[in-house]
Amino acid sequence: MNKIKKSNDEWKALLDEKTFNITRQSATESPFTGKYLNEKSKGLYNCVCCGNELFSSNTKFESGTGWPSFFEPIKKDNVTEKIDHSHNMKRIEIICTKCDAHLGHLFNDGPKPTGLRYCLNSASLIFKKNDE
Ligand code: FE
Repeated sequence: MNKIKKSNDEWKALLDEKTFNITRQSATESPFTGKYLNEKSKGLYNCVCCGNELFSSNTKFESGTGWPSFFEPIKKDNVTEKIDHSHNMKRIEIICTKCDAHLGHLFNDGPKPTGLRYCLNSASLIFKKNDE
């Protein structure tokens, strides 16, 4: 995979403030505010920064957490797991493998078949609806 490398100033020029804060500074959007929380259409969720294909609507589920949740990425290699010690917690951060955008966190309380919960910020994603 060809990595995309840009400076913070370059990303700042390309993204709105909220998207920049979340994807490049690892901020978290407030629960129940994201635009894709209740999105039910079929399609693919891509990285808002670089377009990398991340999650399919087929793996989206209602977690009750207030953030869009998936049990599996489209391809394991498209997302990268990173240990995150911020906020006095040990969590697994999920980033875009291609451009290092912060996407959200990974938890092991998801549904079958994986038992995983990829807890994402809507602001890190751009949804491409399937052609009907
Ligand atoms: Fe990306």
